[in-house]
Amino acid sequence: MAESFALRLEQVERHYKQGDDRLTILDAADVGISAGEMVALVAPSGAGKSTLLHIAGLLERPNAGEVYIDGEACGSLGDDRRTEMRRRSIGFVYQFHHLLPEFSALENVMLPQMILGRSRAEAAERSRELLDYMRIGKRADHRPAELSGGEQQRVAIARAVANAPHVLLADEPTGNLDPTTAGYVFDALTALVRQSGVAALIATHNHELAARMDRAVTIDTGKVVPLQID
Ligand code: ADP
Ligand code: MG
Repeated sequence: MAESFALRLEQVERHYKQGDDRLTILDAADVGISAGEMVALVAPSGAGKSTLLHIAGLLERPNAGEVYIDGEACGSLGDDRRTEMRRRSIGFVYQFHHLLPEFSALENVMLPQMILGRSRAEAAERSRELLDYMRIGKRADHRPAELSGGEQQRVAIARAVANAPHVLLADEPTGNLDPTTAGYVFDALTALVRQSGVAALIATHNHELAARMDRAVTIDTGKVVPLQID
């Protein structure tokens, strides 16, 4: 049934060695996200949210279990193919924007497209559309240092979806922002998910934002379980 989810983790296990002990972070973790679905990942600090997102984003390999992107099992793929899938099929947004400081907002959104072979003109056109959509078109020619925190995150989101990925992963994308700005950035993110039909898994501590997603999950003793948000 892996094919019906844009993203699926199956029986994923992740542990770290700590001296002679084994610290188990994920233990037979299962989760599936469908196209167009926006799922909140809400769990206390240290519960394994970033670990789960890194494994889902093919940035890290699990100790056991499988990750499916668009139905394709990624565990046995080599590093080159995983990098290719990451560029083509997965968008990632971090708590800190990680934009390249010496490039403009526009260029930051263009770069991942040009890495995949899109021409400069095409990449610029799509980047302008995305920045307009994120309502920061007027700031396109500014460098990250000249942008506010909320603007930086909107550029980072535009960059994450620049190659029209099927899976969008965000690790506390509004965690550094004041509540009002967080709300605006989240609104823009939601609009983008709804418009593009990407499958989104978004780690957040903000219950108000979590309540606005389609559903929420948490990590409980290494397993992904449904979470009721009031
Ligand atoms: P969260 O994002 O929910 O705060 P993380 O996924 O970052 O949690 O971390 C989960 C747990 O795994 C934490 O206890 C953390 O200390 C531990 N951890 C993360 N990365 C490593 C590592 N490379 N080596 C050892 N322990 C780690
Ligand atoms: Mg984290």
